[in-house]
Amino acid sequence: MSVGTGQDEKEMRPAAEPGLNDAAGRREREDRDGSVIRYDLQSLTIDELTDAVRLAGEKPFRAKQIYQWLHEKIVAGPEEMTNVPKKLIDALTEKYPFVSPEIRTVQVSKIDGTRKYLFRFADDCYVESVYMVYQHGHSVCISTQNGCRMGCRFCASTIGGLTRNLSAGEMLAQVYAIQRETGERVSNIVLMGTGEPLDNYANVVRFIRMITGPGGLNISERNITLSTCGIVPGILKLRDEKLMINLALSLHAPNDQMRREIMPIARRYSLSEIIPALKSYYSVNRRRLTFEYSLIHGVNDSDDAARQIASLIGGMNALVNLIPVNPVREAGFKAPDRTHVLNFKKKLENYGIHVTIRREMGRDIDGACGQLRKRCSEMETDR
Ligand code: SAH
Repeated sequence: MSVGTGQDEKEMRPAAEPGLNDAAGRREREDRDGSVIRYDLQSLTIDELTDAVRLAGEKPFRAKQIYQWLHEKIVAGPEEMTNVPKKLIDALTEKYPFVSPEIRTVQVSKIDGTRKYLFRFADDCYVESVYMVYQHGHSVCISTQNGCRMGCRFCASTIGGLTRNLSAGEMLAQVYAIQRETGERVSNIVLMGTGEPLDNYANVVRFIRMITGPGGLNISERNITLSTCGIVPGILKLRDEKLMINLALSLHAPNDQMRREIMPIARRYSLSEIIPALKSYYSVNRRRLTFEYSLIHGVNDSDDAARQIASLIGGMNALVNLIPVNPVREAGFKAPDRTHVLNFKKKLENYGIHVTIRREMGRDIDGACGQLRKRCSEMETDR
């Protein structure tokens, strides 16, 4: 493993304890920007782990060993770290819990092999992830929050609001558990499961740095896509991280008025702020942008909507990904029929826009984001 710990330098200064504020049994620390970093064993960077190991009175090389077990060999439990003294593991896991999600259900699509996982974390928090097999590799769609507070009207994930942010370790654990269960190497990650990634900024960026960094799964930044509903300060901050990750914007409406009706966040940030923020993000990493557009019958699928989309994003290096809306019981929205979806695509193409229709993966298992998690929590409450 090639983890640069800068050990000599570190010997010189006293070790600091990561996550000093231990609120309600969980270790958390407020970042400079006010976002809260959640600490568990898998969330610790190699430097933080080295500090924690030294505070426990052990030699720094133990940190390298542990990091390798956690992030390269992706062990399922602390007892699998066989060359590390049990005393050290106990001391560490007492402060930093070992994240070990239980797989509650796996639904496997008979059509395309998509696997949808429902995980349960220690505090009874349910999290969904999806594994998809493509020609170019294996992709995992992870959740970044338990629930969501963005309130998009067509989305099942937001119905119960936000319960809590997930830690970087909990995001890693979704990928690791799937890789262990399938025995396949994951090559792509999309942050498009439950939650708004930019509403959990510090933990999400920590996750991206750990999964792409040395000593981990070494996934290429170019193979990661983050989807946001359009939190402008988050987009600009992400630009300054200078990551090569792909950005997707959930557009869903071509003007602010229509957008505000289906996406409450549009009341906070207008398209006149979002589009320049995206252009600025693009000017730094030059990765093609994606605009996600859930087509809702009679709401955002008119010819005029197509024209407005074209004038909004024309000239940008961008792709529009059309998603026939997945009906959520509470919302009462319907997808247009297939012919209408194809017509809408054609209209956009006639304006010179690149368009794809999202391949519906795992149509025979649970559809839209949040539906499995929601159904399961309904079952739990019904009991
Ligand atoms: N919060 C982030 C990522 C999570 S959702 C975001 O807003 O981008 C991933 C994508 O699925 C988003 O584009 C979201 O708007 C879309 N989505 C959610 N519910 C949907 C539904 N019922 N049908 C179609 N797309 C949906």
